[in-house]
Amino acid sequence: MTRGPDGRVRALFCGRHDTSEKRTKVKEVTYKPCRGCRVRLRTNYPGLIYCPTCSLVQSKCLICGDHVGPAVRGEMSSSAPVGEE
Ligand SMILES: [Zn+2]
Ligand SMILES: [Zn+2]
Repeated sequence: MTRGPDGRVRALFCGRHDTSEKRTKVKEVTYKPCRGCRVRLRTNYPGLIYCPTCSLVQSKCLICGDHVGPAVRGEMSSSAPVGEE
């Protein structure tokens, strides 16, 4: 797992989801299964497909599962819910 200097897990986002404004969020945190490893994720992204780890390993957008190049990256806290408050 790749972690930044502040301990955050790096997830990948495609061009349609590479900024916080583009990512649909809901107020309520729900549980979503990761399509890759089946882990249940706490998230406020209603359409989340991959956990940050699978997103990174498979080079897929965490939100929609589209393939993304390594240049597009988002920051994720490993302990907080996936998404933003
Ligand atoms: Zn996963
Ligand atoms: Zn996407």
